[in-house]
Amino acid sequence: MFCPACGTKNDDSARFCHSCGAGVATEPATPPPMQTVRGAAAATSASPAGTAIAAAPGEKSPGLALVLSLLIVGLGQFYNGDWKKGLAMLGGTIILGPLTAGVAWLGFAIWSMIDAYGVAKGTTKRW
Ligand SMILES: [Zn+2]
Repeated sequence: MFCPACGTKNDDSARFCHSCGAGVATEPATPPPMQTVRGAAAATSASPAGTAIAAAPGEKSPGLALVLSLLIVGLGQFYNGDWKKGLAMLGGTIILGPLTAGVAWLGFAIWSMIDAYGVAKGTTKRW
């Protein structure tokens, strides 16, 4: 290493300059590990960007609510968080559907679709 005072080249193990006698810094010449740590942190923080795909909470899709009620009566109500109405529709369909040869089912299905759409849109109130 070189003497910080006079610039004379000294032996690496020397503590004092052989030319001027000044103290030669004997700090270990290991490279700082900051760069590698930062690189690893940047790599890990960049990866979970694709996890935020879920829709914002509270945002209901009227179209999806309608389709769900079309598949199963009351499902659109459950999707909207309208549990009591959904259970009433589903229960009414199961109980009255067979008794009315499907007429009640048709009525509940139409009601469920229109209601699910309206509730999701905010024009119809939940129970
Ligand atoms: Zn020196």
